[in-house]
Amino acid sequence: MGAGPAALCISSELIQQGLNVRALASHSPEKPWPNTYGIWAEELDSLGMGYLLGHRWKDTISYFGNGDKISEANPITHDFDYGLFDQAAFQNSLLEKCSGLSWLIETAEQISYFDKITEVTCSSGNKYRARIVIDASGHKSKFINRPHKGSVAQQAAYGVVGRFDYPPVEKDQFVLMDFRPDHLTKSELKEPPSFLYAMDFGKDLFFVEETSLACFPPLSFPTLKKRLSSRLAHRGIKILEVVHEEHCLFPMNLPLPYRNQSLLAFGGSASMVHPASGYMVGALLRRAPDLARKLSELLSIEPSLNSSELAKEGWKVLWPIELIQRHRLYQFGLKRLMSFDEELLRTFFATFFKLPREDWSRFLANTLPFPELILVMLKLFYISPLKIKLGMIGLVFFKI
Ligand SMILES: Cc1cc2nc3c(=O)[nH]c(=O)nc-3n(C[C@H](O)[C@H](O)[C@H](O)COP(=O)(O)OP(=O)(O)OC[C@H]3O[C@@H](n4cnc5c(N)ncnc54)[C@H](O)[C@@H]3O)c2cc1C
Repeated sequence: MGAGPAALCISSELIQQGLNVRALASHSPEKPWPNTYGIWAEELDSLGMGYLLGHRWKDTISYFGNGDKISEANPITHDFDYGLFDQAAFQNSLLEKCSGLSWLIETAEQISYFDKITEVTCSSGNKYRARIVIDASGHKSKFINRPHKGSVAQQAAYGVVGRFDYPPVEKDQFVLMDFRPDHLTKSELKEPPSFLYAMDFGKDLFFVEETSLACFPPLSFPTLKKRLSSRLAHRGIKILEVVHEEHCLFPMNLPLPYRNQSLLAFGGSASMVHPASGYMVGALLRRAPDLARKLSELLSIEPSLNSSELAKEGWKVLWPIELIQRHRLYQFGLKRLMSFDEELLRTFFATFFKLPREDWSRFLANTLPFPELILVMLKLFYISPLKIKLGMIGLVFFKI
């Protein structure tokens, strides 16, 4: 169910396994995806898919200021390529791998479970049956059950692809996080922080996006838009033409789904967004083949398994204990970060990117095995200034 990146990643792998798959989505799978997806290029290179990038930046930097000396704003260089998918090429390459898949353009309304099958009832009244259904309908899915663990932090961003009277970033440059707060008033400095994510697309086109990493309640779009305007105005930059506006809002720490439910999920609905960074596409590409392989094995070796048993086996592959442990650690880290004021947050990131590149990049991609992840977090703790150490253990003092 679905036609976003998660649905196409898992469908294409199921098709590669020779399974009989039908896809059901509210709209045509050829409709261009509304979001632009970014990724550290090495993550994609390691899957042999670097060619899917439409843009690739070598000059990748961030600004974190220098504690309370915010005018000392030399950038940190990441020396690591970042890329944006060529959206059409990415979508088409997955659709090509889905060759032969039949699409039902329908909206799922209800799901019922019978002995050997799952039945999806659509808003049209049509019913479809399958040995197993995978919900890839995104983080708003009403079909996947998960515990209610209080307020869910959201990543929110407002961005503009456009032309400017003065370049907001240097030529061929990508800015992961510009946290310089020198345009903010004293009272604004006490509000939840946000940073600029920005890049040069070439041909006088730039993307600038004011982003709040994670917050509950989320920062509103008008607030982010106002902050973006004042950030640009402070640097004497005016927007001349808006080519595209991006409104981004998605949950960062959606609780993990129950693993004993009869419906399997993949993507946003399965809480696969990285809780510390908000990235997911790399994880979809890495994790889809194992899940598809396991389902294929089960369907051929154990034909007697019913829908519910198949789904439960699938959940074990998708969320093994080791990944759950990592996820919990990331969620713990995010919770701590959300308690930091803007100066502490800037200092935290400045320290984080002092880790060896191998460590921070694998932390962000979620490719560190659990013991190594703990080790990297301990390293981070060790190299952190005292105020960050106190923040990490939950002792945060705010400036009044
Ligand atoms: C603006 C934005 C920018 C992002 N940028 C990045 C990024 O740069 N890098 C990154 O890794 N991640 C990014 N993410 C996070 C994450 O990768 C995306 O949210 C991603 O689109 C989630 O994929 P998905 O396929 O699970 O869900 P979605 O993309 O939301 O797709 C859900 C699909 O299910 C269909 N559907 C929904 N309900 C039903 C139903 N009842 N019946 C049938 N079909 C249904 C929808 O029509 C849609 O096709 C971003 C998220 C947002 C919102």
